[in-house]
Formats: sequence, C-alpha cells, structure tokens
Amino acid sequence: MRIEIRTATAYETREVGRALAPLLRPADALALTGELGAGKTTFVQGIAKGLGFDGNVVSPTFMLVREYQGRLRIFHVDVYRLERVQDVLDLGLDDATAEGGVLLVEWGDAIEGLLPPDHLVVTLTVPRDDETRSIVFDGVGGSWRIRWEQLERLLEPFGGLGPPGPPGRWGVLV
Ligand code: ADP
Ligand code: MG
Repeated sequence: MRIEIRTATAYETREVGRALAPLLRPADALALTGELGAGKTTFVQGIAKGLGFDGNVVSPTFMLVREYQGRLRIFHVDVYRLERVQDVLDLGLDDATAEGGVLLVEWGDAIEGLLPPDHLVVTLTVPRDDETRSIVFDGVGGSWRIRWEQLERLLEPFGGLGPPGPPGRWGVLV
C-alpha cells in the first residue's frame, strides 16, 4: 500500500497533514522519515491543525517529546539525537499509544521496530533543489489496509489517487 504525492510549498505539506488527520484513531503511530529540512515537522503541524489543536507546533528536537491536545492527544517525538535504543525505550512511546494518543515520530524509520506493528510510514524527500517535496505513504498492517481507500480519497486533491489522470489541485501523481 503506497501513495506518493508532491507538494510545492510548506503550506501544501501542512494541508496534506491536515487532510490525513480525520483518518487518525486512538493509538495510531506514524513514522516520519526524511533528512533535516525535508518537512517532517511541517507535516506534523498540519496533522495537529487537522486534529483541532490551534497552538504552535515546533520541532521537539531538544525536548524529545511534546504533547498537544486536539480531538486526540498528540505525542510528537524527535529521536534524531538519541544514540541508543535504550534512550528511545526510555521515552515510553508505548504509554503514548496505550493512553489512546497518536504517536508522531520524526526519524521514525530508525525505530520502526519499536513502533506498534500497525503504523504508517511517511517519507519526505527533496527531489530537486527547490521547495518541491515528495511525500510517500506506506501503510503497514491491517488497520491501515482497511483505511487505505479512504486515505486515497482524502489525498486525491493532491494528486495522490491513481491511475494517472489530470493533475490534482496541487500535487501531481508520480
Ligand atoms: P524537518 O522536520 O524534516 O527537519 P521542517 O519541517 O522543520 O523539516 O522544515 C522544512 C523546511 O522546508 C521549512 O523551513 C519549510 O518552510 C521548508 N519547505 C519548503 N518547501 C516545503 C514543502 N513543500 N514542504 C515542507 N516544507 C517545505
Ligand atoms: Mg523536524
């Protein structure tokens, strides 16, 4: 299960995050991967907005975990600086999902094995030396399989629904 879309600005990337938010359920986990500056935090800002959190969402790099309350509780984690698996375990990510929160982990691919078996991997890349970003969604597990068509529909305005057709409102199908 894979969807790839492209955005042209940070605003669009936020809008993609916002479009995904209605699909999120208690105990969901998202692994946000991509190099520094790819747009992981920007994407989380959109999710938080879509979940009804009105405040500022900033990088949790120095805080490790930030919590926000929206329709669901949001646990925003950046494990970039953690060098040992134990440091990640110490964060108690299990508690976040056990409490029914939504877990959003930047640099999540490094700890994918520690995430719940069902999770969504969101990979952001910078294909060119400009503001274009590629955003790839990979659903892992049955709970994403049953939501996949819905996700495709939500992302359709961004060009995320195949087969190739006319360009979407913003993105292109790639
Ligand atoms: P990360 O968390 O992956 O390190 P950030 O979201 O903090 O990345 O930063 C992304 C930077 O790239 C921001 O300064 C943002 O304004 C800029 N940017 C430019 N174009 C885009 C885009 N299409 N999507 C996301 N961010 C973009
Ligand atoms: Mg970040």
